Amino acid sequence: MDAGDDQSLESAANGGRLNEMIAYCGLFCGDCVRYGSTLTESARTLLTELEKRKFSDYVEVKKKFDDAFKDYPIFVDVLKKIVELECKESCRKGGGCSAFDCQIVTCCVEKKQKGCWECEQLVACDKFDFLKSFHGETPKKNCVDLRENGFDDFELRKNSFYLWDEKSE
Ligand code: SF4
Ligand code: SF4
Repeated sequence: MDAGDDQSLESAANGGRLNEMIAYCGLFCGDCVRYGSTLTESARTLLTELEKRKFSDYVEVKKKFDDAFKDYPIFVDVLKKIVELECKESCRKGGGCSAFDCQIVTCCVEKKQKGCWECEQLVACDKFDFLKSFHGETPKKNCVDLRENGFDDFELRKNSFYLWDEKSE
């Protein structure tokens, strides 16, 4: 899959330069907790520190006095999962987020499109459904915006990345 071709970053239909952080689906990778996030590094550092200090041995005793520590193995598992979430490359550079097989990437690459904003089927497309529980209508809304207004200043116009970001604004 030729998703990381520098040529694809050049100007498209409505002017401006396509930022490599703009994914095929219209999401902005720079806003994702999985990409370049201090969260990953913090979880990794904490896991290393817990191991270095043999904290599990401490927990074996401590949990006799405080029930909360009985869940320590679950806590460690979640920390490991947070580390696993890490995306080392943006979608466009890496050919999809987190190496899962994304139908949107495949479809755009097959159609030789820089993103879904270039597609006439955008509004009716059901390939965005899996994104809804995290992102609501943001990907499609961003694509409509990109189609109408181009890439310039998109970072200032883009919609909230996560549904819960909307609530906190
Ligand atoms: S892999 Fe798919 S869902 Fe993920 S950012 Fe890229 S186009 Fe969007
Ligand atoms: S059909 Fe169009 S809008 Fe849907 S994933 Fe493919 S390129 Fe994107």
